Amino acid sequence: MESFDLIVIGSGPAGEKGAAQAAYFGKRVALIECRAELGGAGINTGTVPSKTLRESALYFSGLRQRGLYGIDYSLREGLTVAGFMHRKDAVVSAERAKIAANLTAHKIDLIPGAAQFEDAHTVNAIGQHGAVRTLRGEVILIATGSKPHRPPEIPFDDKFIFDSDSILAMERIPKSMVVVGGGVIGCEYASIFTAMGVTVSLVDGRDRLLPFLDAEISEQLRERLASLGLKFFFQERPKLTERTATGIRMTFASGKIVEAETALFAAGRRGAVEGLALENAWRCVTPSAFPTSSVSLRSFPWESTRFPKFLP
Ligand SMILES: Cc1cc2nc3c(=O)[nH]c(=O)nc-3n(C[C@H](O)[C@H](O)[C@H](O)COP(=O)(O)OP(=O)(O)OC[C@H]3O[C@@H](n4cnc5c(N)ncnc54)[C@H](O)[C@@H]3O)c2cc1C
Repeated sequence: MESFDLIVIGSGPAGEKGAAQAAYFGKRVALIECRAELGGAGINTGTVPSKTLRESALYFSGLRQRGLYGIDYSLREGLTVAGFMHRKDAVVSAERAKIAANLTAHKIDLIPGAAQFEDAHTVNAIGQHGAVRTLRGEVILIATGSKPHRPPEIPFDDKFIFDSDSILAMERIPKSMVVVGGGVIGCEYASIFTAMGVTVSLVDGRDRLLPFLDAEISEQLRERLASLGLKFFFQERPKLTERTATGIRMTFASGKIVEAETALFAAGRRGAVEGLALENAWRCVTPSAFPTSSVSLRSFPWESTRFPKFLP
């Protein structure tokens, strides 16, 4: 069995930085990742793709020039999803390569597989074909991130009814869309698709966008988005979402009905902990099972280490 000072589960921003920092301080580190691609939601389905798509939407729609010259720009003729996604794919690939280089530079053992706890200090990395690699770690960092919440009553098919992961694999740019959720992800995609000329309706059970913002800022944002054509349905909740011959029909709890070609559900995320067997993480091992040091988390000298000028 291989032993490490630190085992990191997940290669998203948290896992990558945690692993690199510990390795920088001379710790022996293994990083387990269950997906073929490094970078987690940060690089593959969240921050980086959505910010790059925002830039692509501004570019293809000429939205910035509209403001400058008052010209009614329309979406570039014949734009395909492949064209729209091209820049995003290039940026995501470059970022994945940077993470791989960072792990290599810090001599971190990258172990493909789904992590599963056996006890508080033992983790199995289960590979694609069921091959198991057992690792022991003094400290284990769970950095498995989150996934879009998919309520069971919503008939997700990832062709007409998407979540914020599957929207990145859509096959064509729709004419209309209902976005459920007025949080950061819902607002972000609603504004991207509105800029692309898609007729977007945004539904939220609350009475304003991004409620954690100052009310005036939230209202300014709503006004700006409304001026671009985004329609809002506040204090409404989808009760029934159905497929129709041309797209989807959503019936709200109030009885109102909205039809569109597609729907995007961006109404929350949940921790990605399935399969980790977290219940086993409480199973203690005796200190003697650890030849190198005690099993206390405090034994990892985070506080006592002087920070260098440049962090990894
Ligand atoms: C659309 C969208 C836009 C966003 N925009 C922003 C933004 O502008 N700014 C911002 O700061 N944040 C943004 N976020 C949030 C940001 O992406 C997350 O906060 C960040 O990715 C969390 O990083 P993480 O490392 O904790 O987890 P993740 O990035 O989710 O990485 C978790 C990793 O763990 C792996 N994993 C999971 N389970 C296991 C297992 N059992 N075994 C092995 N590996 C496993 C996963 O495959 C994944 O690679 C956005 C998110 C979304 C969805």
